[in-house]
Amino acid sequence: MVKKKGATKHPTGAKKSYGQVKGPYLQKSVRKRIEALFLDNIGKVLTREQILEAARNPQTGREPENWHQRLSELRTDDGYTILSWRNRGDLKVQEYLMPHAEKRAKAAKRIRPTNATWTAVLERAKFSCEWSEGGEVCGLKEGDTDTVGGGRVKLTPDHKSPHSIDPSSDPDDLNQWRALCGRHQVIKKNYWDNTTGKLNVYAIVQAATKSDKLAVFLFLLDYFGYVLNDDGVITRR
Ligand SMILES: [Zn+2]
Repeated sequence: MVKKKGATKHPTGAKKSYGQVKGPYLQKSVRKRIEALFLDNIGKVLTREQILEAARNPQTGREPENWHQRLSELRTDDGYTILSWRNRGDLKVQEYLMPHAEKRAKAAKRIRPTNATWTAVLERAKFSCEWSEGGEVCGLKEGDTDTVGGGRVKLTPDHKSPHSIDPSSDPDDLNQWRALCGRHQVIKKNYWDNTTGKLNVYAIVQAATKSDKLAVFLFLLDYFGYVLNDDGVITRR
């Protein structure tokens, strides 16, 4: 049932070992079955095929088409850490790894401004993105072309302080909301640390391409006074 795979070497020398579909996974939802598979395989690499096998409907045997969406919900809604090739250099595409079973604190329930409040926010914003970083405001207008991110700008409401004292009063409170373009919504959601109010640089580097990661790696070596020699050995400058 489960294909055996040999352990391969991590660039750092650590062994990469593959998990097993233990099961049977009789949980009612696709997400719960995938969760059970990962919890059975902490620290092990799971492949797309293994996830599909665990996720299939225990009655009909049918493989779900939306497994990828459910996997993503384990990260975003349940707060699990699930690594992929984007986060770990030794994982291949379609390989996933849950390093531990700890869950991050769940995101607060989504609230929205009332229509009247949102209209007032847009007027205050002069129908442009209110993202501000280092004193510079984004300022892209609804319908503009985003020359950095591409596509047409669509402004949506962003709740400024998710930890506000009385979130139930916020839908009417103009000052709790701002208008953001799509690119800045993504940055806020994925790379903005609400507790420090700063960009989450670590998350940005994790999501970066391999060549950008390499550039950051070399920058950091240089910054801290190290040199990467031709033979791959790192030495102090
Ligand atoms: Zn913006």
